[in-house]
Amino acid sequence: MGSAPETQALVQELRRAVRGEVRFDAVSRALYSTDASIYEIEPIGVILPRDADDVQAALEATRRAGVPVLPRGGGTSLAGQAVGRAVVMDFSKYMNRIVEVHAEAGWARVQPGVVRSDLAAALAPHKMIFGPETSTANRATIGGMIGNNSSGSRSIVYGKTIDSVRSVQALLAGGEAVTFGPVEPEEVAVRARREDAEGVLYRRIPEIVERTRDEVGRRFPKVHRRVGGYNLDAFPPGGPVNLAKLIVG
Ligand SMILES: Cc1cc2nc3c(=O)[nH]c(=O)nc-3n(C[C@H](O)[C@H](O)[C@H](O)COP(=O)(O)OP(=O)(O)OC[C@H]3O[C@@H](n4cnc5c(N)ncnc54)[C@H](O)[C@@H]3O)c2cc1C
Repeated sequence: MGSAPETQALVQELRRAVRGEVRFDAVSRALYSTDASIYEIEPIGVILPRDADDVQAALEATRRAGVPVLPRGGGTSLAGQAVGRAVVMDFSKYMNRIVEVHAEAGWARVQPGVVRSDLAAALAPHKMIFGPETSTANRATIGGMIGNNSSGSRSIVYGKTIDSVRSVQALLAGGEAVTFGPVEPEEVAVRARREDAEGVLYRRIPEIVERTRDEVGRRFPKVHRRVGGYNLDAFPPGGPVNLAKLIVG
């Protein structure tokens, strides 16, 4: 971020637009300058959004100011994923609700700041589990697990996070709200004709997947957990397209 007046203008704009906490003081910036890695980078500031509207408003203000944002859950990442010179958006304090458990259909809808152990406790009475269990399960959030495609001690049997994510509600960089889940090929063709950002994604990504399919099949490492790059191997030929699988990891 450039000069202090620019930062002040951003802080004022964020305080006006965001209902949650907007913290740009030195102590908060110091607290968020580390995760579980060896890195230490002081963020520009910190936001603790209360809801999706807050996230939308914060993204708009930071986009206008040309400032990067960095989402954060429990901050237990080992490779510096949760630190950076950005406005950190901490989802763990307020956006941590388990919205709905649909036991018959076998899914739950949660906010990104839900801690993995809390989800496990809520699912247990329904005899359901969320497959991957990181060693940090009592503080790692589902948003962070999605960001890292986390796995754990039982992942060989129950899979990695990508295997447990059916659908993701997200905001694109331009602020467009999207819901990514399984979309049948006929519907992909319909969406690909749209003029908006989602239309671009449904045009370009299947095209990239098909163009690279052979090479990805040949050259992606044959290991159980691979988090380097996009999951271009998560699109079965002729099957539904689920862009949520690209957001994971
Ligand atoms: C002692 C120790 C043991 C560990 N054991 C394991 C293990 O067994 N298995 C394993 O896979 N990992 C393990 N980890 C790594 C880490 O705990 C996991 O990857 C964990 O799932 C990260 O969750 P978090 O909430 O802390 O995410 P964070 O570190 O806060 O964030 C992780 C990534 O997700 C992004 N993110 C977070 N929230 C959102 C959001 N709402 N929207 C978009 N992006 C978001 C962040 O920007 C970042 O890139 C371990 C770490 C430690 C320190």
